[in-house]
Amino acid sequence: MKELLIDNKEVLYKKIKLYKTFLYKNTMFKTNLDDEECKAIVEALNIKKRKKRIEYIYDYCCNRIDKFYEGKNVCGFTNNKCIIQQAPNCKYKNGCCRLCIHQSSTGCKTKNLTCKLFYCSSVTQKYEVIKFKDLKILKMFSLRQKLMIKDSFFATREQIIFDLYIGSIILFGIRTAIRETISLTKLAAIKYKEKKIK
Ligand code: SF4
Ligand code: SF4
Repeated sequence: MKELLIDNKEVLYKKIKLYKTFLYKNTMFKTNLDDEECKAIVEALNIKKRKKRIEYIYDYCCNRIDKFYEGKNVCGFTNNKCIIQQAPNCKYKNGCCRLCIHQSSTGCKTKNLTCKLFYCSSVTQKYEVIKFKDLKILKMFSLRQKLMIKDSFFATREQIIFDLYIGSIILFGIRTAIRETISLTKLAAIKYKEKKIK
């Protein structure tokens, strides 16, 4: 296998799309850059199996976001209500996840990158948040995959990774519509049961 040393961040970002093509299938990338994300990109470039590479990029982004918000409470949660829900007469709790079947009493049961990147304006006006464009490693995804990442709320990690792997916008649209219908039906059933108990 050939070796290629990456020693310039800007060149790496510029050539990222070229480096992930079949032309570099037999190339082992190395780097001397002291930058955590560049190292992760190089690591991803060295994963030659497509599904494994997608999983690596996905998990890297989720972990980086989790680390960034560790110990912070940017949504201002108090008694399970975020700053928006603390408004008088608001009966909702658990933030904007309340309409999702993947929510549990201990938080999200899955790892959803789209949700992790979402913050409403009440938060973004006050705090610095990680945005899509801050995750340079996402440059490794195609335009279609980026659109999927931006619009995969309420899905599980596995469902999103499957969509990214297949890469079909049509299938993604159908799967999203089915997912949302199932989710809304289940939520309506839960609410109906709760009403009956009361
Ligand atoms: S992003 Fe906004 S609406 Fe969602 S939980 Fe945070 S404060 Fe609440
Ligand atoms: S998938 Fe998204 S909306 Fe659902 S519980 Fe997890 S973070 Fe909340």
